[in-house]
Amino acid sequence: MTDGARAATRTEPPPRETETHCPYCALQCGMILRDADGRIEVRPREFPTNRGGLCQKGWTAAELLDHPDRLTTPLVRDPSGTLRPASWDVALDRIADGLRTIQRAHGRDAVAVFGGGGLTNEKAYALGKFARVALRTRHIDYNGRWCMSSAAAAGLRAFGVDRGLPFPLTDLGRTGTLLLVGANPAETMPPLMRHVTDQRARGGRLIVVDPRLTATARQADLHLQPLPGTDLAVANALLHIALTEGLIDREYVATRTEGFDAVRRTVAGYWPAEVERLSGVPVADLEATARALGTADSAVILTARGAEQHAKGVDTVSAYVNLALALGLPGRPHSGYGCLTGQGNGQGGREHGQKSDQLPGYRKIDDPAARAHVAGVWGVDPAELPGPGVPAYQLLDSLGTPDGPRALLVFGSNPVVSAPRAARVESRLRGLDLLVVADFLRSETAELADVVLPVAQWAEEDGTMTNLEGRVLRRRALRPPPPGVRTDLTVLAELAARLDDAPDAPVPATTPDGPAPTTPTTTRPAVPAPRTPADHVPAPRTAPDRFPTDPRVVFAELRRASAGGVADYAGVSWDRIESADGVFWPCPDPDGPDSPRLFADTFPTPSGRARFHAVQHRPAAEEVCADYPLHFTTGRVLAQYQSGAQTRRVAALHRAAPHGFVELHPDLADRLGVAEGDEVRVASRRGELRAPARLSPTIRPDTVFAPFHWPGAARANSVTNDALDPVSGMPEFKICAVRVERA
Ligand code: SF4
Repeated sequence: MTDGARAATRTEPPPRETETHCPYCALQCGMILRDADGRIEVRPREFPTNRGGLCQKGWTAAELLDHPDRLTTPLVRDPSGTLRPASWDVALDRIADGLRTIQRAHGRDAVAVFGGGGLTNEKAYALGKFARVALRTRHIDYNGRWCMSSAAAAGLRAFGVDRGLPFPLTDLGRTGTLLLVGANPAETMPPLMRHVTDQRARGGRLIVVDPRLTATARQADLHLQPLPGTDLAVANALLHIALTEGLIDREYVATRTEGFDAVRRTVAGYWPAEVERLSGVPVADLEATARALGTADSAVILTARGAEQHAKGVDTVSAYVNLALALGLPGRPHSGYGCLTGQGNGQGGREHGQKSDQLPGYRKIDDPAARAHVAGVWGVDPAELPGPGVPAYQLLDSLGTPDGPRALLVFGSNPVVSAPRAARVESRLRGLDLLVVADFLRSETAELADVVLPVAQWAEEDGTMTNLEGRVLRRRALRPPPPGVRTDLTVLAELAARLDDAPDAPVPATTPDGPAPTTPTTTRPAVPAPRTPADHVPAPRTAPDRFPTDPRVVFAELRRASAGGVADYAGVSWDRIESADGVFWPCPDPDGPDSPRLFADTFPTPSGRARFHAVQHRPAAEEVCADYPLHFTTGRVLAQYQSGAQTRRVAALHRAAPHGFVELHPDLADRLGVAEGDEVRVASRRGELRAPARLSPTIRPDTVFAPFHWPGAARANSVTNDALDPVSGMPEFKICAVRVERA
């Protein structure tokens, strides 16, 4: 029976206990949910990534299912500016009418969609299709752009494919030397450290590159503590040393790669003593690291946000990929380069159409063959598909501007807290004619919306996620959503049906249950008149049955859409996932093997060889100066996740990490006259944050740190820089120049 047919005949009630995965990060720890007379219990289960472990976030994940803040009815902003409960019909009509009015007046691209790296594959796929087919806008992107797009771009240009880890996580436990660059899994995904513990028990070495002595760095054999923004120079110096000391795998370089000569010439100038002056990392530590990597039987180099969230993030990752290639690591047993994906479905979310330049299967939207294939699956003319849009920050920064979108639909994201230069993004959102947020809690972004739609949570929905290994997993529902709550798939189908129905109907002046779409609010003006007649386009038309609401049916369509693409899911079925602890893509054939390990024999590039890219260190987009003399960097804490909209509401997590803070070295604090717990003000050229000082000798005296999980005065992203990587569109979250003083 096909997945679609099975969906049509499935009638069994939801189980009282189910095996699923954590809703949060990309480790996607295996867990069991049990409904004990309405109380949902969580317990870990044995799964290859977490091996029976969970972090505090996973243990407490079910608390949000029945949280008092849970949204169970749509909210529509009334003329006084207040969000008030409304019926689904009123809310959806208001959205559809608003979208139609705006698109008629200003063109299709006047509507934009913003997705999230936590959405299931089915929802990410449906959202991309909804943007391209129902709205016919080029403007869609997602918050995963801020997670690992730099590693994705570097992986694509080196290996021809972007899969976070091209090997199972269990390989870490058997590698000789593990180099973690800008990664702190002991706090961000603690169960991963079980693999590191294995590795060290077998005699392996752990080396961590991080400006802070993090929980992970504390466990390392060697900690390199570079100035933020100098990771690229460190990598080039490591390759310089490897060349000097004859550690290069010359046969591998000759037979499996191309472009090494340019890299060799480039790194020749990265003398360790000069890189020590630049980065602060002692020559002896650089040499020890190069030797540990170059002499081990096997070695793995992993990067994460610390190295990637820079305006030169792609080049920084390329520098570490160059090092891995020169040492002959990718494709070798228990060896290689990988990126630690952050969000739960950061990997799958970017494979199936949420990115502005991509179609499902990791296809390029400007590739005629890709457009023809996907348009065929969607039943539309390829010429009707829009072209590429712009990356996430550029999209948000254009909202409400004369040439930018005037309406935004947000699914599974909270950019008011998570976007760089967040105050500016917040003002852009306020400048929209229509903001719609689908969420299960009133996030800070939902607070600005004209319409808020209450949608299902992870334990209430079926679907698939693709974890940091490229392993496709099953998310299973334990129980249905509460009354009044719908799934994202249902929301998209209902909106598509409304956009298809009576597209030329006039916008009503009022409705029996609520305000009209053009009613002024206190937060933004009414939908304006057309700017020019030339902007007029017909309202979008699409058949509502093109947006199925059953995730099995959606996944069956996703398989067809991805077939033949880089991320080929054609051979992945829900049954196969369930029988085998997940399925690694690419998996083109239902009866053929999947791909847990890539690159053993070849790389998916035109030549079959991996490609070196010569890259040069360059300063951060904003350097310290007399007015802003300190470096500022951001990151995460163990008990909170991303924008914190969910985890800040979990009692145990709130107790563990109740508020933001600013970490600074005691010597710096002395100079500034700041004591532990004093409120400090951190100001950059873009804004400021205020939070209690936390003194720690583990941070460099020239650098201050703040976690980014909190809104309001402690919002770290009020300070961060919106300079973007020219290739990936990744903002420079990890370094800017600030001034710090007692508040
Ligand atoms: S947050 Fe990540 S590490 Fe923690 S339980 Fe969930 S998936 Fe595992």
